[in-house]
Amino acid sequence: MKSRVSVILMTMAMMLLGVQCAFAAASDKPNVKILATGGTIAGSAASDTATTGYKAGALGIDVLINAVPEVKNYANVSGEQICSIDSKDMTNDIWLKLSKRCNELLSRGDVNGIVITHGTDTLEETAYFLNLTVKSNKPVVITGAMRPATAISADGPMNLLNAVRVAASPKAVGHGVLVVLNDQINGARDVTKTNTTSVDTFKTPELGALGYVNDGVPEIYRDSTRIHTAKTEFDVSNLSELPYVKVIYGTANDDSLFVDAAIKAGVKGIIYAGTGNGSVHKNAEAALAKATAAGIVVVRSSRVGTGSVIPAEQSYIDEHFIDGDSLNPQKARILLQLALTKTHDLKAIQDMFHKY
Ligand code: ASP
Repeated sequence: MKSRVSVILMTMAMMLLGVQCAFAAASDKPNVKILATGGTIAGSAASDTATTGYKAGALGIDVLINAVPEVKNYANVSGEQICSIDSKDMTNDIWLKLSKRCNELLSRGDVNGIVITHGTDTLEETAYFLNLTVKSNKPVVITGAMRPATAISADGPMNLLNAVRVAASPKAVGHGVLVVLNDQINGARDVTKTNTTSVDTFKTPELGALGYVNDGVPEIYRDSTRIHTAKTEFDVSNLSELPYVKVIYGTANDDSLFVDAAIKAGVKGIIYAGTGNGSVHKNAEAALAKATAAGIVVVRSSRVGTGSVIPAEQSYIDEHFIDGDSLNPQKARILLQLALTKTHDLKAIQDMFHKY
């Protein structure tokens, strides 16, 4: 009898200890919030061999988290659905909602980092928008997938696990918004999607990745020198819309059609994705000069993919075109949108292109 009582007491004590250990383990781990926006990582196809023709954003965040229970070994995770879209359909409204939600969550003491699941098509744009508007040094990590969740060898589960590992790591603090896919960690400013279908698609051309996830361990080797997150001057907390800025793609045999249409539509800014060092076809140049004369801000960017757009022709200076530095056209558009929320002074905007 005595021994039965002591067994029960011992069992109760062990259970209590177990509960305490579980608590200690939970409170020792960082708290990572996963904000889901849709994309192929949440995509569902009709067959497990299909990698196209699926519905992006079909699966909710809880399905994604439950498919990778290992994330709970690294962080206390909880999910929140921001939207369920194919990221080709990304909007300013969703960017503003996402940025504001990141800022709310990161200002809390009980949130240590954020993971965002996203379609890969505009992932680099969302990453750069958040890199300029999130006001925190805590890790914000964006991930996605090239194969739908239902595919053989889907890349989403490992990408999600690695994103949580990075967001939970003190090593990720203060590096700006990070893009984690295919075991690589890239910085939001310089990363771009380089392959339409391969899982090895997110790259930082020439400058290189910031780091890797080495067999599950995040390592960061370098940093971008450009200002980001907590140190930027941009504040979206009171914004409900963003200025209308269009990208116009320069080609041989170009004309003024799109520039004229953009002026007529009332754009506030134009990014001209020019040839070479942001060169502008003479037919488009005349129209762009009309645009700057009408108060529209024109930025010369490049369709080349690497290198910086630096001062070139005297006529570009005379026509008050801004040099887009090394941002690709889609990211130059984001910086110009945010710049126009602060100023219309051309010198101040040019400085921003050298700063961010
Ligand atoms: N079209 C999809 C999206 O961007 C592609 C992907 O996620 O890989 O949402």
